[in-house]
Order: sequence, then structure tokens, then C-alpha cells
Amino acid sequence: MTYDEFSLIRRWTSRSAGQTGDGLSVGIGDDAAVFSLPADREVVACCDAMVETVHFLKETMNPSDIGYKAVISNISDVAAMGGIPKYALISIAVSPNWTAEECQQIYDGIYAACEAYGVRVIGGDTVSSPAALSLSVTVMGEVEKGRALLRSAAKPGQLVFVTGHVGGSAAGLDLLLQTAKTGEAVEEMWQPLVAFHQRPVAQVAAGRILAASANPGALNDVSDGLASELWEISEASGVCLRIEAELIPVAETTRMYASHKGKDPLHWALYGGEDYQLAGTIEAVEEERIGALFAQQGIPFTVIGRVEAGGPSVVMNRNSRWEPVAKAGFNHFGKADARKG
Ligand code: ADP
Ligand code: MG
Repeated sequence: MTYDEFSLIRRWTSRSAGQTGDGLSVGIGDDAAVFSLPADREVVACCDAMVETVHFLKETMNPSDIGYKAVISNISDVAAMGGIPKYALISIAVSPNWTAEECQQIYDGIYAACEAYGVRVIGGDTVSSPAALSLSVTVMGEVEKGRALLRSAAKPGQLVFVTGHVGGSAAGLDLLLQTAKTGEAVEEMWQPLVAFHQRPVAQVAAGRILAASANPGALNDVSDGLASELWEISEASGVCLRIEAELIPVAETTRMYASHKGKDPLHWALYGGEDYQLAGTIEAVEEERIGALFAQQGIPFTVIGRVEAGGPSVVMNRNSRWEPVAKAGFNHFGKADARKG
């Protein structure tokens, strides 16, 4: 590494300079970071990579949005385990079509997401790449010992729920791909869709409410679409999930945009992904108590179906007809389902 690269990294990560305390004994600047957790906690660790042209395009995502979303997708994975996100490591491979200024903006987005969730950047790696930028983020968090929420915990008799709204990110991508092509500005009324796509919210508080439950069910985050996440729960738990199409929470703006484009908003909800909501199961007797706790936090909470014995399968009641839900995620740029990688 040349001195130039060194000073670049120092500039990108200046907001981490000298950061120690609260479990962190060594931050950025040495060979590796050193931290400890309270004795009653376990580490929750996850990693997600985003590659230019496979996971994002410069035309639909500003550099800061790319950094922001890469961090959120990891924080969302920690949330889906019922954990508290704490630390992030950033590995960036920079190609010649990216300027130092754009990389600084990627870091601005990284820090904006980290600071919003109390996460500290404690290290990373910087390399060059011949053609496309790639950004890989690792987030580590903590959860009370033995209390991580698993995909395998769904049981017959439980209810299936989802937080927030789904399908909005795919609607936003549809809009942004169109405006990138035509050069038009995004109309004011569709701005919420841009935010759904570029600045998703991770449901950490929701995950914590569920982790505190005495008899928790299964949990997953909606990164690849509701269909794919429910299938993962169904397969890991060996159960059948039966959901009601008309209960799936789709935001009003998403519905209006879908109708404007002659598209099915439910398709975006099921197969779009990147909404970073939580989908899972709870005991039926917990519905009211958990619903009230979510309401206190201002997090929409919607029961969309129930768990039955059998399966693995996911079926949906639409217009009084039960149909199978395909085990598929949306495919953004017409390539093989690379996001599943
Ligand atoms: P080494 O050669 O020992 O791997 P580096 O020169 O790669 O060390 O990194 C020096 C310090 O800067 C380390 O603390 C490392 O974690 C941090 N670092 C390097 N690249 C990045 C990056 N892209 N983002 C955040 N921290 C980074
Ligand atoms: Mg290194």
C-alpha cells in the first residue's frame, strides 16, 4: 500500500479516528480491531457484498446510497437474528471509473447508516479492481446467549407476520431505471419510492422485541422478496405457510405507482426484495402483546397468515383461490439470480 492510499483510507475513515471504549479496545489503525462483549452475550456476525452492475448501477444509486444500503443490508441481517448491531468492517475494491470524491461519498453513506444505528466502523481493507467497484461489509453485533432468532423455529398454529411495507424497493428501482433512461426528473409524488429503494430502514427494534419473547417463532429479513424469505422459513422449519394476498402490506404510493404502470404490486412485494423488513412467525396468543409493543415503536406490524403442519410449502389465498407461491427472488438486471450468491 502506498502512502497515498494510506492517506485516502485515513480520510475516508476519519470519523472513526481514535474511537475506543464501550467494549472496543483497538479501532482502525493497527493490524486488526479488538473488542469484547459482556459475558452473557454471543457475537452475531454477517457479511454482504455489493458489486457494481450486479447489485447496483451508478444510474440508480448515488455513491452515498451505495454505502448506506450496503451497511443496512447487514444491520438488517443482525436484526433478523434478534441482535444489536455494534461493529462494521468495510472491504472496498475500487475500479478506475470511480473518483476519490465518489469513494468519499460512499464512506459518507456508510457512516450515515452506521451512526443511525449506533454501529462503529472498526476496520476494513482497500484494494483495486480492474472494472467494477465492489463493496463488502461485515457487521458484528451481540445477542443474549441462546436467544438468537432462527428460521427453523416456525411451528404449526403460529401466525405469519411482516413488519412495515413490502414491494416499495422494487417499485423504486422500476421508477429509477425509467428516469435514468429518459433523463426525466422523479415526480414529487413518487419520491417515497426513491427512498424505499435508496435509503431502506433496518428493523432492529422489531427484532429486539421478538428476541425478548419467552416463546419466539422464526424470523428472517426481506432481502430477496417475501416469497423467498417465507420459503426459507418453511424449509428450515418443515412447515406449510399459508398467507392471504390481501393482507400483505403494500404502501399506498407503491400501489398507486403499480396501477399507473399497469403492474402488479403484489409481484414486487413477493419477488422484489431489498425492503429489509422482518418476516416471521409468532405464537397466536402473542399477537396482541407484540402488536402493542410494535405500535409503541411506530413499526407497522401485520399478520398475513398462519403456519400449518406439512410442507415445506408456501401457499397464498388470492381472490378466494389458493395458489402456490414460487420459490423465487426478483432478478434486477436480467442476469442469473446473482443476488442469491
Ligand atoms: P494491513 O496491511 O495490516 O492489512 P491496512 O493498511 O490494510 O493494514 O489497514 C490499516 C488499517 O486501516 C487497519 O486498521 C484496517 O482495518 C483499516 N482499513 C483499511 N482499509 C480500510 C477501509 N477501506 N475501510 C475501513 N478501514 C480500513
Ligand atoms: Mg489490509
